[in-house]
Amino acid sequence: MNDLNNKIEIASKLITESKKVIVMTGAGISVDSGVPTFQGTEGLWARFGKPKMNAYSEFLKNPNEWWDREINHQRSPYVLELRNAIENSRPNEGHKILQSLENKKIINSIITQNIDGLHIDAGNKSVCEIHGNRNFLRCVSCHNKLTFTPPITEQPSNCKLCDGVIKYDSVMFGEPIPKKILDNARSMISGADLIIAIGTSSSVRPAAGLSWIAKSEGSKIIEINTNETKLTNECDVVIKGSATNILKKIYCEIKKVMK
Ligand SMILES: [Zn+2]
Repeated sequence: MNDLNNKIEIASKLITESKKVIVMTGAGISVDSGVPTFQGTEGLWARFGKPKMNAYSEFLKNPNEWWDREINHQRSPYVLELRNAIENSRPNEGHKILQSLENKKIINSIITQNIDGLHIDAGNKSVCEIHGNRNFLRCVSCHNKLTFTPPITEQPSNCKLCDGVIKYDSVMFGEPIPKKILDNARSMISGADLIIAIGTSSSVRPAAGLSWIAKSEGSKIIEINTNETKLTNECDVVIKGSATNILKKIYCEIKKVMK
């Protein structure tokens, strides 16, 4: 039996035998949906440079000006590329497998760093989008979430509940993650006996910290990634490969076991 098949078998057994399985996903799961990654040699940051880390405070200084630039499409090539890709993206086979696994009660919840909304589009019910969802708007004060129909042609009026300023739900650089989102992620992790980290560099806090918390509370960790990450040495099973490919193999193996 080769090394990969062996790992797939061990991982599948661990997944079916665990009682509370939490999947943590990053950009790697959406690569096959055409959404560009931030990090890595082909990532947005390598090609456009790392964006300013103070985007949120700049937004708060003058939300009218920010929305004005937004509406008149005067955004950086970096933002435009990411946005186009997200608008045209559809869930790939990896997302669909995770939906089937939730449906069969094999996994409990997904905590994702992605803003593309593809886990929700795939039909997953228990999803914590820790960096928000680019397909929604949100009040900066009370965090009330709103839907919208693109393209936005005028600045959204202030929040009906608290008169707060409205921005996209996706979290900007320098923006604190809403407490109720972090609390939700924390409660998902609580009592988990298995974390599956898929396509995440596990380097962006606070999302990355959740895996370490889970580990310190006794959870096992499976990592699926094309590269080594900061989490790799902490994992019980490390499977190198693309998210879609490896998930297909694992799902195939799980179906054999479940028969
Ligand atoms: Zn509000």
